[in-house]
Amino acid sequence: MTLAQIGDFAIDRVVELEFPAFVAREFFPACTDAQLADGKARLGKLISADDKLLMSFHTFVVRTPRHTILIDTCCGNNKPRPARADFSMIQTNYLADLAALGVKPEQVDYVMCTHLHWDHVGWNTQLLDGRWVPTFPNAKHIMAKREYDFWDAEYAKGDRNNMHVLSFEDSVLPIKRAEQAVLVDDDFELEKGIWLEPCHGHSPGLVLINVENGGKRGIFVGDAIHHQLQLLYPDLCCRVDTDMTLSAKNRRAFLDRTADSDMLVMPAHFPMPTAGRVVRDGNAFSFKGA
Ligand SMILES: [Zn+2]
Repeated sequence: MTLAQIGDFAIDRVVELEFPAFVAREFFPACTDAQLADGKARLGKLISADDKLLMSFHTFVVRTPRHTILIDTCCGNNKPRPARADFSMIQTNYLADLAALGVKPEQVDYVMCTHLHWDHVGWNTQLLDGRWVPTFPNAKHIMAKREYDFWDAEYAKGDRNNMHVLSFEDSVLPIKRAEQAVLVDDDFELEKGIWLEPCHGHSPGLVLINVENGGKRGIFVGDAIHHQLQLLYPDLCCRVDTDMTLSAKNRRAFLDRTADSDMLVMPAHFPMPTAGRVVRDGNAFSFKGA
């Protein structure tokens, strides 16, 4: 069943992984006992009994009358991620699940990256004869230049303990070398009704991806929001945010302007409901599945 329909744009998702992935108070270091207890009371299974955040790792598949577009590409198979055992050298049925939606790798026209963290670029490449090669041979990969340049500079520093540096090496650089990367400004428009918008903080060049067609609006927010707990407490920042102050400011501004509107919001890590509307609730918000 299609996840959402924005005019003539059909939106589906491929779930690579979904599990209670991170301990809430490690992931959100500023989260208090009271906030966690409130979250557990109000969000049900989205926070497990042992205080872990239920998170999905998925790709959105957007089909317009002209193009097949993937939004972010999860973690990928066979990728060494020493710092994260749950995600290291995983084997999933991602490509078969994509094929089940009717999309073969060669049919993908564009991969759009909200940002270049390891859990968003993995399937950009796959291991073939010992080399990382583009998974989607005909796709252009749209990356914000600001984001690319930041991770390119981090890569040059050579810290191979940084997961994002590892993924830059095995999942981003091969795309650049294959001349499939398109580095764009933060407000780039791909085709009429699909455009980027900056929302920096979690990473230096994070972009939101807007879709608008037939009088309907949706937005892919990447990791500007990780979990519904951040709708209850918008100031909670992920421990790996590059700039927590900016991240919190931009998240609250986004929620403020989106609340009680018709905007369909689609974060990168929400399990079902994955697509929904933001509803104002006093000084905070809730998420109403579409
Ligand atoms: Zn992420």
